[in-house]
Amino acid sequence: MTEIRYWNGEGCIGKLISDVVVRSEIGTYYALDLGGTNFRVLRVQLGGRRSSILSQDVERRPIPRHLMTSTSEDLFDFIASTLKQFVEKEESGSEPSSVRARELGLTFSFPVKQLSIRSGILIKWTKGFAIEDMVGEEVVGLLEAALIRRGLYMRVAVLVNDTAGTLALGHYDDADTVAAVIIGTGTNACYLERADAIIKCQGLLTTSGCMVVNMEWGNFWSSHLPRTSYDIDLDLESPNPNDQGFEKLISGMYLGDIVRRVILRMSQDSDIFGPVSSRLSIPFILQTPLLAAMHEDDSPELKEVDKILKETLEISEVSLKVRKLVVRICDVVTRRAARLAAAGIVGILKKIGRDGSGGITGGRSRSDVKMRRTVVAIEGGLYTSYTMFREYLHEALNEILGEDVAQHVILKVTEDGSGIGGALLAAAYSSGGVDNVQ
Ligand code: BGC
Ligand code: MG
Repeated sequence: MTEIRYWNGEGCIGKLISDVVVRSEIGTYYALDLGGTNFRVLRVQLGGRRSSILSQDVERRPIPRHLMTSTSEDLFDFIASTLKQFVEKEESGSEPSSVRARELGLTFSFPVKQLSIRSGILIKWTKGFAIEDMVGEEVVGLLEAALIRRGLYMRVAVLVNDTAGTLALGHYDDADTVAAVIIGTGTNACYLERADAIIKCQGLLTTSGCMVVNMEWGNFWSSHLPRTSYDIDLDLESPNPNDQGFEKLISGMYLGDIVRRVILRMSQDSDIFGPVSSRLSIPFILQTPLLAAMHEDDSPELKEVDKILKETLEISEVSLKVRKLVVRICDVVTRRAARLAAAGIVGILKKIGRDGSGGITGGRSRSDVKMRRTVVAIEGGLYTSYTMFREYLHEALNEILGEDVAQHVILKVTEDGSGIGGALLAAAYSSGGVDNVQ
């Protein structure tokens, strides 16, 4: 699969915020980044004009597991309280006059039907969240109600997907940024498209120029995807069967569990692992960071593999041969994921004519084509913290694009980009902002 043939039109299709708009903003902006495993509260100070971000404070918190399947009120009350503490800490000692209307960007990393720049309806949950009363509800309204309950006055200026936030920061830092990719607990991408190339928007647009298309590529599906019986079982037993098929082959939430399933089957079908450990039947017991630790164990005796197999999975037979086999399983699963993610990135580059093919009418050979510098902002723990995954992804990009083209494609990590980008967008769409349209 080298081509993504669709985008999810229900996702966020927002107007591109030009860096000029953001750069004319001065002041303090907040953001709340609700992702898969963690959430972040941020405060960003902008200097205005050509000067950039003056300072940024970020506080990261794991989302308590029980809140992922509780009620929207519980989730948002918790978030609003954390935000309130953060705001109070940040503003303590500042002049009352500076505590004016606070503007907040909400980065919400789930599929949303965007109604305007500051409102949208949750289409469905992904990444293990299952708060039923929230599906079909308007997200910003729920946050605002919780802020009121907590007595915190803030105006939610924007609601954006994490890919869009990452693209905003990426583009702010480097104007050659054309797309943003998240490979963490979940996976997704967005890219800049010529407005006239978006059929759905034809006739609706008052402006020409670019649009941000949130692909929601985690839900991409094709019969050509290399799906095994382990993937089929994982999907069937997940809270969202028949959904997010691409994501379940790639992202951090699932890779460890695919490896667990392979080891379980091998253990049942042979005596290579000794008696079948009951731990192997516990879903998600082998989290992806453990998979990475085993895969990247470079000790000659594979000590880390030994430890994880014994302590986490309670496997009794862990000879060097067994340990090597486990490393091999980790390698196969991770390499497949990284190559699929790379194929997705190439799909975007192809769609926007940055894959070096010179466009449909070009007809020139690859080496004749002058490739423009093409930056893809990238975020997510799987990519940033898992070296082997990153290496396999780069290797596949080189392989698919050819090195002469791939050398012009730069994957740039934007740390906390989704949240900081959310704050930048809040600035651009603040009540005093220049471009206050939807
Ligand atoms: C969500 C996307 C999000 C991605 C990365 C997916 O599960 O559907 O909206 O961008 O995870 O966080
Ligand atoms: Mg995130």
